[in-house]
Amino acid sequence: MNEDIQAKREQASLDIVKSTQKVIKEAIGYLGYSDDMYELLKEPMRMLTVRIPIRMDDGKTKVFTGYRAQHNDAVGPTKGGVRFHPEVNEAEVKALSMWMSLKAGIVDLPYGGGKGGIVCDPREMSLGEIERLSRGYVRAISQIVGPTKDIPAPDVFTNSQIMAWMMDEYSLIREFDSPGFITGKPLVLGGSHGRETATAKGVTICIEEAARKKGLDLKDARIIIQGFGNAGSFLAKFLQEAGAKIVGISDAHGALYDYEGLDIEYLLDRRDSFGTVTNLFNNRISNKDLLEKECDILVPAAVANQLTANNAPKIKASIIVEAANGPTTLEATEILSKRGILIIPDVLASAGGVTVSYFEWVQNNQGFYWSKEEVAERMRQLLIDSIDKVFAAAEKHQVNMRLASYIVGIRKTAEASHFRGWV
Ligand code: GLU
Repeated sequence: MNEDIQAKREQASLDIVKSTQKVIKEAIGYLGYSDDMYELLKEPMRMLTVRIPIRMDDGKTKVFTGYRAQHNDAVGPTKGGVRFHPEVNEAEVKALSMWMSLKAGIVDLPYGGGKGGIVCDPREMSLGEIERLSRGYVRAISQIVGPTKDIPAPDVFTNSQIMAWMMDEYSLIREFDSPGFITGKPLVLGGSHGRETATAKGVTICIEEAARKKGLDLKDARIIIQGFGNAGSFLAKFLQEAGAKIVGISDAHGALYDYEGLDIEYLLDRRDSFGTVTNLFNNRISNKDLLEKECDILVPAAVANQLTANNAPKIKASIIVEAANGPTTLEATEILSKRGILIIPDVLASAGGVTVSYFEWVQNNQGFYWSKEEVAERMRQLLIDSIDKVFAAAEKHQVNMRLASYIVGIRKTAEASHFRGWV
């Protein structure tokens, strides 16, 4: 990648770490902990950087850089996905691991936050190369991960096949079958019903609850979804099934918008496995323009830093539900909250994935598997309780939804660190 773009991207990630730290500090203040607690929680406790040599199909060796961050393991093992992306960097993985602690805290899962990433572009690699890289990554980080230490999962551009290779590699290293080492596996290898669609299901539940609070009927609602990856595409399907009109979608190439509603079934059918579809159309607009189009509910489900101080005053939606990690800057959060726009923050809205991952891990530990209905019902209950807790915290402390979700999310980690005598 061009060095300029890389430097910009790294700076953006450092800014994200800083704004995450800022809100964590405020949240800790509201909970009545001292600055020492902030000192502990402001950075991951462990950060491993690895170099992974992989034999490529042309016979040459390429060395990839990978990361694994473990924010805090006072509550229990750390947990979080592994992303494969050319722009992954250390600061981004750090911030993402802190958000995983918040997600686990909000849903009340017995985990701390973790996250991993490999700097690579799977869109340009063969399946064999991706398999060798996935296995190489597990060998490189095997010392610090495991079913009772740190449990990886899918994230951007990783899927159940990659989880299967990683689980197999870990089991080979340990010399016993270890399904609980990783979640998001195929069903036959100990995956859980509902895991693939879990993030989108969680976002759907958040949208339903937010619409209820705002007195908006989902049947009449116009919705824009930025991003057509795992979360965005299933979400479009679920919302359309619920009777909503999906008026906008987008991918890395651009966006499609139609006030009367898009033909989602057709778009899902034409979409490739990386979520690309808009390149097939001439009438596409930019991702930037899409965000400012007419709609009731806006769902950023792509990448970070999409809603900023520049476009926040122009957003038409009355509800924003963050399916992506970090799509809204703190300045934009301020502006949008002041404008009376209801934001359901990422650490709450995107927690469905890790919630069903937790169920998968529990099933692996028990060797006893649940029905689809059981998974769906338990998830709905946990998420609705979480949404209620965040609304209650916003009300009690008279703060915006982001700060409220951090107050709820960091409480468990802080309390566990305190009881352990760390702070
Ligand atoms: N990568 C997902 C997330 O960011 C899921 C993590 C997990 O299932 O552990 O929440």
